[in-house]
Amino acid sequence: MALIVQKYGGTSVGSPDRIQAVSDRIIETVRQGYQVAVVVSAMGKTTDNLVKLAQEITPAPNRREMDMLLSTGEQVSIALLSMALQAKGQPAISLTGAQVGIVTEAEHSRARILQVKPDRLRRHLDSGQVVVVAGFQGITHSDDLEITTLGRGGSDTSAVALAAALGAERCEIYTDVPGILTTDPRLVPQAQLLEEITANEMLELASLGAKVLHPRAVEIARNYGVPLMVLSSWSDAPGTKVLVPTPQPRSLDGLEITKAVDAVEFDSDQGKVALLRVPDRPGIAAQLFGEIGRQQVDVDLIIQSIHEGNSNDIAFTVVKNLLKQAEAVAEAIAPVLRSQPTAVEEAEVLVEKRIAKIAIAGAGMIGRPGIAANCCDLSRSRDQY
Ligand code: ADP
Ligand code: ASP
Ligand code: MG
Repeated sequence: MALIVQKYGGTSVGSPDRIQAVSDRIIETVRQGYQVAVVVSAMGKTTDNLVKLAQEITPAPNRREMDMLLSTGEQVSIALLSMALQAKGQPAISLTGAQVGIVTEAEHSRARILQVKPDRLRRHLDSGQVVVVAGFQGITHSDDLEITTLGRGGSDTSAVALAAALGAERCEIYTDVPGILTTDPRLVPQAQLLEEITANEMLELASLGAKVLHPRAVEIARNYGVPLMVLSSWSDAPGTKVLVPTPQPRSLDGLEITKAVDAVEFDSDQGKVALLRVPDRPGIAAQLFGEIGRQQVDVDLIIQSIHEGNSNDIAFTVVKNLLKQAEAVAEAIAPVLRSQPTAVEEAEVLVEKRIAKIAIAGAGMIGRPGIAANCCDLSRSRDQY
């Protein structure tokens, strides 16, 4: 029988009514002939409130104790959802991360998943139960069986890891927006729903802060070819499909322990123009880049650094053969800025012709401190990267 993993986020299970609505959706999926494993987050703002509670005890709580505390949130929602299912006649059982064998490294508050041992989960599914699993948490494989958490937003990662380990037909991530949109709809109401997006594009969005999917979840979906959907738990609208590559045989051992850095690229065909000590006022950058755009100059990187007081440096890079044009635009704007009443110091243009851009790519860098230091450490040998 085909299996679907469904994941419901905090708002989706934020109240008894919401839990009832989620249980109806699960029962409907069972009626359609699927085995269903469900991953849930803590109810509403529970995790945030637990963090606040710890802060009231001490400003620097021990990470192990934080995991002990935060993992309780998900335990509440799995029990309540299982009760709701059982009350409607649907056999169900709630299981913690440890009970479903989500084994992680011993890195409190940001543990990566090493392995999922789905035997017990499969047994329950095969006996006709819906299995409701606590997201965001795991257990170390040392004798101590320490409870770990995967990092904030980590329930998405639990769900996709389970789907990969169980060979699920797909993983459905239910949340409080209609799917993946062109930007955060809470900030920009005109944001448009995307029907589909590639896993690589989504990985970039998620790594840059699009909270709708945990980047590590997208990485697992891409690596293991897990079909992934993001949908609203409030409607039956089709949501967004994340397009993943065709699954290739790949070991489930060390599930999340991929290389930190996939690739390092460099481009030495770059030049830099900096407009120094311009007034720190909205509109200045738009003025500069507006003119740069009108001159058909492509800008690559933009860095703004603020000085104490009221001034700002705006630096940007372009390919070398556009450097003269870009410099001319900056030189034309500098005297205008100097004459403005809010100018703190004299605006000045600085040009550097010998610039190289080095880019380090890899979703495995997320939650792994020390990569920047390693990359800048020239004494490290090549095979250490
Ligand atoms: P859940 O509790 O269901 O995991 P999250 O709060 O973690 O939900 O993620 C959903 C939120 O992600 C949305 O409420 C929305 O504010 C935010 N978000 C940010 N960027 C996007 C985007 N591009 N598309 C959709 N939602 C986005
Ligand atoms: N409850 C956890 C959090 O708030 C995990 C999750 O929601 O994905 O970060
Ligand atoms: Mg989330």
